[in-house]
Amino acid sequence: MSTLATSLPPACPGCQLRFHCVCHLVPSIEAELHIALLMHPNEPSRETNTGRWLEKSLASCSRHVWQRTHACPKLIELIQSDRYKAYLLYPTEDSQPIVTMTDYAEQKQPLLIVLDGTWQEASKMLRKSDWLQALPKLSLQPTTHSRYQLRRNQQPGHLCTLEVGAQVLSELGYQRQSEQLEHFFHHYLKVFQADKSGHALKPDQDLK
Ligand SMILES: [Zn+2]
Repeated sequence: MSTLATSLPPACPGCQLRFHCVCHLVPSIEAELHIALLMHPNEPSRETNTGRWLEKSLASCSRHVWQRTHACPKLIELIQSDRYKAYLLYPTEDSQPIVTMTDYAEQKQPLLIVLDGTWQEASKMLRKSDWLQALPKLSLQPTTHSRYQLRRNQQPGHLCTLEVGAQVLSELGYQRQSEQLEHFFHHYLKVFQADKSGHALKPDQDLK
């Protein structure tokens, strides 16, 4: 008896899925803004991380790993660049709605820093980083609930990282691009769940 017959197919190196690759469906999005994902060190290895899809989809998106002891040099470079005006996307009492941004008048693109991790990790990253606390803060005004059910311990109204990206694009007037991301994500979630159950998505559930 060959063991090959019962072994799982190899995961696609691009999307990590075994039964139904979604790499060719990742949208290619351009917008006049930069989203910097500041990831908790635990985040990149989680298969439930959705920030990687934002990184693959949005041309102007970068990923940085948070360090407790010092600010990330590459991210500081972006914050100090003449090209951008930096904001931290984080809901606090003094956060302003995204629509209040006045960067366009200053000829600068918004640099939006998104804390990528569980909400407990995000709050810790902010608490331990003076350089983040010093940034002006923006909050989203989502009108829909998260579709993302893969993680436990999520607070109501907490969007996953990819949904945050889609919401940012929508609130800045990039409606079509936002919908492209949402559309991809909706499909990915179905494929991901089928993949975890050990099969490809059935044709009648496929992307319409
Ligand atoms: Zn793939």
